[in-house]
Amino acid sequence: MATHSLFLLPGDGIGTEIMAEVEKLIAWTNDRQLTDFSTDRGLAGGSAYDKYQRAITDEDVAKAKAADAVIFGAVGGPKWDDTPYEQRPEAALLRLRKELAVFANLRPAICYPALAAASSLKQELVEGLDILIVRELTGGVYFGEPKQITDLGNGQKRGIDTQVYETYEIDRIARVAFDLARTRSGKVHSADKKNVMKSGVLWDEVVKGVAADYPDIELHHILADNAAMQLVRNPKQFDVMVTDNLFGDILSDVAAMLTGSLGMLPSASLGAPDPATGKRKAFYEPVHGSAPDIAGKGIANPIAMIASFAMALRYSFNMIELAGRIEAAIAAVLADGLRTGDIAQDNRRIVGTEEMGAAILAKLNA
Ligand code: NAD
Repeated sequence: MATHSLFLLPGDGIGTEIMAEVEKLIAWTNDRQLTDFSTDRGLAGGSAYDKYQRAITDEDVAKAKAADAVIFGAVGGPKWDDTPYEQRPEAALLRLRKELAVFANLRPAICYPALAAASSLKQELVEGLDILIVRELTGGVYFGEPKQITDLGNGQKRGIDTQVYETYEIDRIARVAFDLARTRSGKVHSADKKNVMKSGVLWDEVVKGVAADYPDIELHHILADNAAMQLVRNPKQFDVMVTDNLFGDILSDVAAMLTGSLGMLPSASLGAPDPATGKRKAFYEPVHGSAPDIAGKGIANPIAMIASFAMALRYSFNMIELAGRIEAAIAAVLADGLRTGDIAQDNRRIVGTEEMGAAILAKLNA
């Protein structure tokens, strides 16, 4: 029996094309006995709806929960615009996140040297950038109650969302950030709005409490609006940034776009460690969607998907060296001038999905 299990959910559109490149990589690492992965595959999103009239089946959810890590492509597309709301493609993603209870969303923003010139910021500001935004994913204002629009009866309505956090939610996300900081530069910025929000006051208090358990980690507080400003002014001052669901949604998009295309951005979502095994439920996916406009053309950028697999190696299996080798292979291929259409620059060689995947494998073989 294989040592580790992966459950692959390619999804729709370019999801299947980019997942194929990850499957080649898994076969490669297994063949060289660098890993011992068993893989199983399921359907999610529109492809599951076409077969089962469900965004994802109970069997596939059970397989996702049983696996050591889920590797997810992307779901959705115009073909499924008229499916019933409960079975729309995105319902698969939401159900998986909920059932796996993945509360910590990790979004790295890494600027590959070869792409630094393509950033919207000055090259010297982003060259060498390597930020990890840790966003609380299952609480806060997106889920707090009451959440409603009421009719005030005088021609006016009132819309309410509720920002609510409890101690345990802040404590566990802070621990993820501090643990990750230990594997990096040992520095955490915690972003909130404690100047105007009670939930921010609690956030700061709990994060500072957790910091006492991590005397080796340097903790900095930053107001979330200042964090947004500093990310575009001097992003390299940051390493790990931990923040709530709403601010994390915005700040991770800002950080991500410093480094270029959607096609480059991986992510991980982690649950709480199992008390018996210490293993966390984990879900790895590119940030981008199913890109229906280019699906089936063989031109999608597989790097976000491949880098998501590298994150799985690092965060679920502690295979730090192998993850680093894959990331170095991506950097090397970019340095050689290979580009998919979404990251095309003058005088660079435009390649398709398979050619980009093969070039990364070739670098690993070199
Ligand atoms: P998208 O991310 O799919 O595409 C936005 C643009 O970026 C498109 O022009 C696309 O061609 C390009 N792009 C995205 N990934 C790329 C890649 N790897 N290589 C090259 N180009 C890439 O977002 P969208 O167009 O707003 O949404 C399309 C569908 O995907 C919708 O059904 C949406 O609901 C769904 N979606 C799914 C997820 C997910 O599964 N996590 C996330 C976002 C959107």
